[in-house]
Amino acid sequence: AHLDRIAAVDGSVRSYLHVDAEGALATAREVDEARAAGEPLHPLAGVPIAVKDVMTTVGLPTTCGSKVLEGWIPPYDATVVSKIKAARLPILGKTNMDEFAMGSSTEHSAYGPSHNPWDLERTPGGSGGGSSAVVASFQAPLATGTDTGGSIRQPASLTGTVGAKPTYGGVSRYGLVALASSLDQAGPCARTVLDTALLHELMGGHDPRDSTSIDQPVPPVVEAARSGDVSGLRVGIVRELTGEGYQAGVQQRFDEAVELLRAGGAEIVEVSCPHFDYALGAYYLILPSEASSNLAKFDAMRYGLRVAPAGVEAPSAEQVMSASREAGFGDEVKRRIILGTYALSSGYYDAYYGQAQKVRTLIARDFEAAFAQCDVLISPTMPTTAFRLGDKLDDPMAMYLNDVATIPANLAGIPGMSVPVGLAPEDDLPVGLQVLAPAMADDRLYRVAAYVE
Ligand code: GLN
Repeated sequence: AHLDRIAAVDGSVRSYLHVDAEGALATAREVDEARAAGEPLHPLAGVPIAVKDVMTTVGLPTTCGSKVLEGWIPPYDATVVSKIKAARLPILGKTNMDEFAMGSSTEHSAYGPSHNPWDLERTPGGSGGGSSAVVASFQAPLATGTDTGGSIRQPASLTGTVGAKPTYGGVSRYGLVALASSLDQAGPCARTVLDTALLHELMGGHDPRDSTSIDQPVPPVVEAARSGDVSGLRVGIVRELTGEGYQAGVQQRFDEAVELLRAGGAEIVEVSCPHFDYALGAYYLILPSEASSNLAKFDAMRYGLRVAPAGVEAPSAEQVMSASREAGFGDEVKRRIILGTYALSSGYYDAYYGQAQKVRTLIARDFEAAFAQCDVLISPTMPTTAFRLGDKLDDPMAMYLNDVATIPANLAGIPGMSVPVGLAPEDDLPVGLQVLAPAMADDRLYRVAAYVE
């Protein structure tokens, strides 16, 4: 049924980069046989899933939305993918994304943008717009994402779906093509809070192959998603993430969600996180710095695109490298590599990268102080509803500003989630509520989200 749905709608949504009908059907048949034989099965066995194209998959192309990796078939599975295969979820295919997960609209994908199923002229968000768009358009009930600065939560917000960024270290990063290693976190996308929790539980847990993986059990997210009890919960509204700069209908749906929580017995408090004003600036130095280092491996020698420089008879390795990176990377990737290498260069390191790391600590302290007064924090996930494709493409600053509310959680490593809270009255487009919790208290997100849903 999902393959039929893909055939019917993905020509206009364009959320898959690669569909593996044969592989998905083979797994589905295996599950049928296992079930008939009375074998014990994982609760999600047989439930189809789409995988963001940033995760390595044996036998399936993994492009990261880049020309540099066009046609590359990884020799190993990401841990998250191994877990999906072990539980026997049929993998329908790989989903579109901004190149190397840099962006908030999927327009930086080298394979063209995905479209928002609510309005095809608009973006489904980014970088994991493909994953949220497949879920929103019923082309898969579940999808995986990665969230470095909001790439799971933002697309969830703009497509009226649910998405969670687990605590940093809660889900293995092994086999994710790294963007910024200290910020990257894989997580689940689905249409309901309970589905999201079930996938979160499957993806999470300790992995010795990821040195930053936390050696603790996955927080009880499924139990929390089934409870949805918010009575007595102290819910903090982050003053810096509401009001000015937020679209009227987004603010209205947020205010209604606050009243709903109050009616459910939650205690509402207002908190201030004064350093959040500097979060965006710090992130857009730390991320390009780490990315410029991570992307150095695409040197056209070991794998990926190799282009011969024009008019050079016996090119040196450096000339091939330069020509290949020039041809293979898109503008946004080049912009960030240049920014990052500049920020890390000697003489500038202290002024930019070092300074940004100090701001990062201040933001983590803001969260600590806020969580001394409440159990969870809430804000709108995005300042606006889905914007039109093309609207922000030529203005990097406007694109970066989409991330104001989602970035602080990545800088501090804490978990966050987006859950739909209705449509903005002015444009009938989905609005997301963001919920944030202290590290390893991911279950609190699900309690709030399940209640609000
Ligand atoms: N919009 C952010 C960026 O461009 C989000 C990236 C992400 O979470 N992968 O960096």
